Amino acid sequence: MQYTEIMVRYGELSTKGKNRRSFIMQLAQNVRGALVEFPNLKIHADRDRMHILLNGEDSSLVLPKLKKVFGIQTFSPSIQVEKKLEALKQMTQQIMEEIYTGKETFKITAKRSDHDFELDSHGLQQYLGDAVMDVCPEIQAQMKHPDINLRVEIRRDSAYLSYETIKGAGGLPVGTSGKGMLMLSGGIDSPVAGYLAMKRGVEIEAVHFASPPYTSEQALQKAKDLTEKLTPYVGGIQFIEVPFTEIQEEIKKHSPQGYWMTLTRRMMLRLTDAIRERRHGLVIINGESLGQVASQTLHSMVAINEVTTTPIIRPVVTMDKTEIIELAEKIDTFELAIQPFEDCCTIFAPPQPKTRPNLEKVLELEERFDIEGMMARCLAGLKVEEITPQQSEKTEEFADLL
Ligand code: ATP
Ligand code: MG
Repeated sequence: MQYTEIMVRYGELSTKGKNRRSFIMQLAQNVRGALVEFPNLKIHADRDRMHILLNGEDSSLVLPKLKKVFGIQTFSPSIQVEKKLEALKQMTQQIMEEIYTGKETFKITAKRSDHDFELDSHGLQQYLGDAVMDVCPEIQAQMKHPDINLRVEIRRDSAYLSYETIKGAGGLPVGTSGKGMLMLSGGIDSPVAGYLAMKRGVEIEAVHFASPPYTSEQALQKAKDLTEKLTPYVGGIQFIEVPFTEIQEEIKKHSPQGYWMTLTRRMMLRLTDAIRERRHGLVIINGESLGQVASQTLHSMVAINEVTTTPIIRPVVTMDKTEIIELAEKIDTFELAIQPFEDCCTIFAPPQPKTRPNLEKVLELEERFDIEGMMARCLAGLKVEEITPQQSEKTEEFADLL
């Protein structure tokens, strides 16, 4: 089918009152970003809908990209038709001849914003229903949950027909909730946490701690590859590599094993918070899931969280591992995440980390370290790089759209 435009429904935006305008503008900007490789597209964002005029671009390439943009509830590829009954009838029949296999039920849904049009919505439904019956005599009309819902819209400029409603990514446009720093390891949980934060409108930057030569180039590359899997939702993500070797060596040298984990996590959090401040982020996001490992008991969270008052968002904190894995599979990070590369935390993992670290003891131990100095040296060595989507992702996932 040769579509002329894609009509986009905003979903949750409609409830946002006076913020509505900025939400719509952000969404339009994100849609433009996601579809940047299609130069002929024209995007018009109204109060209620967005219209993406295809201008000859191939809808089968555009639709899968659009499916990843948060803030879209559903969208419908549409065909522009002359605002005349005969033309509408002809196109309706052409569509039905193409899609009706002899089994489906149908319904016509008409909407008229041009009130000068010769038939009202009801009359138009009747007229086009008859037109369908002419070419598919056995077809059954069904008002509730029809297999084919043929929508016709009479607008000022023209008439539009559509018969597919494709589910969008939902959520809020990325950027409308401000920026957060995602602590991204090479594991299963943190990319899922990043995805979920973006879904609620948070723009993310990935902060990754690397401890070469204890952690390899491949482990670093894996974190970048995971970040890349998150880019189709936004277009590009800043990846910040934090040199963590000295700090880990120091902790290992000067503290008892049982406290390595807590002290390491506190340093990670302090550093992420310092990076957040420099880069004007509002919150920190991590992939902690309650009870999963020693660092993720409530007692550990209390002892680790004590270094900052910055809100920490933990999108997967109450999820079971199987639920997190399900999402990781959906966003295609799972296979990558289970590749066995060493992480800075596993390499320095003590055999028996404390699951109930004592905060007083932690503070006492930290007096042995030049925390400010270690942090300053570490922050001086940050490497920032923008990660963008790979072209090979262009046509994936389209098969499951309809
Ligand atoms: P993940 O699957 O995300 O690695 P995990 O279950 O393995 O999580 P931990 O290794 O204890 O759990 O890490 C908990 C959280 O701490 C991670 O989800 C991530 O947000 C952060 N984190 C751990 N290691 C790193 C790292 N090397 N760089 C950045 N953040 C990290
Ligand atoms: Mg991990």
